[in-house]
Amino acid sequence: MIKIHNTLTKKLEEFIPIEPGKVKMYVCGPTVYNYIHIGNARPAIFFDTVRRYFEYRDYKVIYVQNFTDVDDKMIEKANAEGVTVKDIADKYIGAYLEDTKKINLKEEGMIRPKATDHIKEMIKSIKILVNKGYAYESNGDVYFDVEKYKEHYGELSGQKIKALKAGARVETSDIKKSSVDFALWKTAKEGELSWESPWGKGRPGWHIECSAMSKKYLGASFDIHGGGQDLIFPHHENEIAQSKCSYGGDYARYWIHNGYINIKGEKMSKSKGNFFLLREILEDYEGKVVRFFMLSSHYRKPIDFSDKELEMAKSAIKRIENSMLAMLEKMDTKISDEGSDGLELKTVLESSKRRFVEAMDDDFNTAQAIGVLFELIKEVNKFMEQKLNNSGGKVLKDVYTFIKTTLIEVLGVEIVVEKQIKNLTIELTELLKQIEIENPLGENTGNSTVELIEFLIEKRKMAKKERNFALSDEIRDKMAEIGVKIKDGREKTTWTI
Ligand SMILES: [Zn+2]
Repeated sequence: MIKIHNTLTKKLEEFIPIEPGKVKMYVCGPTVYNYIHIGNARPAIFFDTVRRYFEYRDYKVIYVQNFTDVDDKMIEKANAEGVTVKDIADKYIGAYLEDTKKINLKEEGMIRPKATDHIKEMIKSIKILVNKGYAYESNGDVYFDVEKYKEHYGELSGQKIKALKAGARVETSDIKKSSVDFALWKTAKEGELSWESPWGKGRPGWHIECSAMSKKYLGASFDIHGGGQDLIFPHHENEIAQSKCSYGGDYARYWIHNGYINIKGEKMSKSKGNFFLLREILEDYEGKVVRFFMLSSHYRKPIDFSDKELEMAKSAIKRIENSMLAMLEKMDTKISDEGSDGLELKTVLESSKRRFVEAMDDDFNTAQAIGVLFELIKEVNKFMEQKLNNSGGKVLKDVYTFIKTTLIEVLGVEIVVEKQIKNLTIELTELLKQIEIENPLGENTGNSTVELIEFLIEKRKMAKKERNFALSDEIRDKMAEIGVKIKDGREKTTWTI
């Protein structure tokens, strides 16, 4: 049973889809006037993980994430650069797709509507609101009349109309009936990008976009609406008001919001200037590191972003990969399929499988799910140390498959162990050539990294015995260069990759 912390009810609730076996979800996407910063990357990664988890649990997911490709900031930028709003949108949608590909967002089947392709749907929604008396026209603008929805306005965000009015800079204006009313349609200024409408030339307000597009792709009632915490008010509050008043229905049943990103203990924000672009970070770190970092904390908690944290994520991934590399080798070469030595590990694996699902079922607790994987890795490492040359190959294979599936498919952290091991074999073969030692396996080295490593360690031992320290050091240093660390113990030499 999947449980979700619903922002609307402030409770942890059992997830019951509208249609059995199907999840319809809408996530607010970026306004495409700049490269995305890591604050935008957090919801992108988290909600992609939610989607992946539902699919892992055999749900069919309809996932919609929009692009806001017209608004004040975009018009400003286009004017400043002397290009069209569309030029700006095309450029930054391209950049968004390029950046998010690196953090492994599942594009397959994702619906990515652009606001400007849905102006007709937005005008239709606004017309319904005007006809039903929930909205009014004023000087070519159209506003939502919050007073008409006052019983329910604030249910999501907890905002009170009275307090909002008191806090407004201008109590009333000639244009709006009330300071809390928000724009559904804005009249166009001279030369501005605009569309024809019953209220003259203009463009839609931001909130109506998501109401119109979610209606089109998901219907008047759908399961999940997601976004960053900063969107709860006014954006999501207003979406609910518009959608419920125009089309009836529940709008979204479960509201999920992810927490902020902190830099040195302070909330990251554009206005403070303390933000990092995702592409800047991706110059130094692989996408899987960013992804793993984001998922290492619970999505509702703020996360501290720093190089230190990313380094920690990087070494955590390395630990997993090292263990998986060892598993990959040992499951075929060192451990036979018979016997009962793997039984204990099998029990651990079964419990890990159960606890992984429990963690993810509990409001998508990715931090805990990752913890489960690490406990399993600790156990499997112990097993590989102690039970070498014994049975248990089958269970090792099962552990490997489970970690790979959960990490890659569910958490989307793209580890590439198989590729790595192939590269390492190539590098080891190359190393043998460099130090002019004949390859014991000939040309056909296949998947025998461990054999090559052990052969080289043996060669080094012999070189030491013959007091050829130049060669023994060279072997050690060159192996370290390609990522194989040799450690001389009292009784034997061990290695890690
Ligand atoms: Zn939205």
